[in-house]
Amino acid sequence: MSNRLKNKITVITGSGRGIGRGTAEKFIQEGAQVIIAEFDETTGQKTADELGENAHFIQVDVSQESSVKAMFSQMKEQFGRVDILINNAGILMDSTLAKMEVDQFQRVIDVNLKGVYLCTRFASEMMKESGSGVVLNASSVVAHYGNFGQTNYVATKTGVIGMTKVWARELAKDGIRVNAVAPGFIQTEMTANMPEKIITMMGEKVPLKRWGHTSDIANAYCFLASDEASYINGHVLNVDGGVVV
Ligand code: NAP
Repeated sequence: MSNRLKNKITVITGSGRGIGRGTAEKFIQEGAQVIIAEFDETTGQKTADELGENAHFIQVDVSQESSVKAMFSQMKEQFGRVDILINNAGILMDSTLAKMEVDQFQRVIDVNLKGVYLCTRFASEMMKESGSGVVLNASSVVAHYGNFGQTNYVATKTGVIGMTKVWARELAKDGIRVNAVAPGFIQTEMTANMPEKIITMMGEKVPLKRWGHTSDIANAYCFLASDEASYINGHVLNVDGGVVV
């Protein structure tokens, strides 16, 4: 533990599992207090219990304004401030354009795009009060090159990059930096259901010839959240083994 994030009050959405959980572990190792902001109560509480006394579970549905508002009110009461927000929660509901239902399109927009807007809206109000903060958004490499069957998902991950750039401009005067991370192929539950053949084929496409680990993304978030990145604002960091080269 090097304490790069000592006492930083950090909220990570969707951190019950996957990249979010890996990031929570890393941030706790670096001295942060982490709010496991998770939709599923059982997963969220279990993760918080396993990560120890510096992990705190708050139930949230990032797509619902009232739920996000309640989470930040609870954080204000419990911790008094928020230093770092990681907008990590995200879902996939893939199908080709011809088969994509409106509800399917809308649900992914609600979680992956509206959820990022809502959390940043409430977090940035609290950050403004303390005159500093860091917002990190989960995009994806597919925002750069599109992907078959992902009209809804790609729209959100491209939109996240756009919002990152807007907020980097709007919030800088309040001491708030905003950046995005675009992960490549990372082994999590989100990708676990793919056929073995596809998993192997995708790994072969990566110049580094492997899938990424959650720790690869956690390390990037940690750097961007730390003071070592104090002059980085409005950037999209690809963490993808070179897929987007
Ligand atoms: P994951 O394993 O599916 O985890 C996503 C998390 O988000 C889950 O804990 C899930 O909770 C939570 N979540 C979903 N809807 C929510 C809501 N409405 N409110 C609050 N939490 C909600 O995904 P991952 O692979 O770790 O991905 C994390 C982020 O990185 C996502 O934004 C994803 O798009 C992005 N990303 C991933 C990859 C990859 O290869 N894995 C690549 C590029 C980008 P429940 O368990 O309750 O559903």
